[in-house]
Amino acid sequence: RSLLYFCRGQVVRGFGCGSKQLGIPTANFPEQVVDNLPADVSPGIYYGWAIVGSGDIHKMVVSIGWNPYYKNMKKSMETHIIHTFEEDSYGEILSVAIFGYLRPEKNFDSLESFISAIQGDIEEAKKRLDLPEYLKLKDDNFFQVPK
Ligand code: ADP
Ligand code: MG
Repeated sequence: RSLLYFCRGQVVRGFGCGSKQLGIPTANFPEQVVDNLPADVSPGIYYGWAIVGSGDIHKMVVSIGWNPYYKNMKKSMETHIIHTFEEDSYGEILSVAIFGYLRPEKNFDSLESFISAIQGDIEEAKKRLDLPEYLKLKDDNFFQVPK
C-alpha cells in the first residue's frame, strides 16, 4: 500500500509570506484540516498527487509542520502543485493523496538555499511520481470527486 494519507479541504489564504513571489506558491489548508492530521505524521516534505476542484491530477509536494524558515507558531499544511495555473484557487476544494516522505523540515540560513532545497524537492517528487506504481495510483478511486 502506497497511500500514506489522503485529505481534502478548501484552499484558504496563508500568511502571505510571499511564496508566490518566490515562484513557489503553496495552497494552504484551513486549520481544521491540519488539526485532523494523525498525530504521528512527522513534520517534513512529502510528495503525491493533487487535484483542484474536479480538475486534472497533478504532481505535488506538500510541507507539513511549523516551517522553521518562517518561524511559524502554528502547524500548517501547504501544497505546491507542480503545474502552472492561470488563476488562483482560493475557496476551491483541494484534494491531496500523499505517498512518500522526502525530508524533514529544517532551517536555512539564506533565502537562496531555502528556494534551492524546494526546487530539489520538486525535481525529486517529479522523478518518483513517474514510477509505474505511482502512475497507476492516479486512477485510484480516492480521487473520485462526488458529483
Ligand atoms: P498564501 O500565503 O495565501 O498561501 P501563496 O503566495 O502561497 O499565498 O500563493 C498560494 C495561492 O496561489 C494558492 O492558494 C493558489 O490559489 C495559487 N496558486 C497558483 N498556482 C499554484 C500552484 N502551482 N500550487 C499551489 N497554489 C497555486
Ligand atoms: Mg501559501
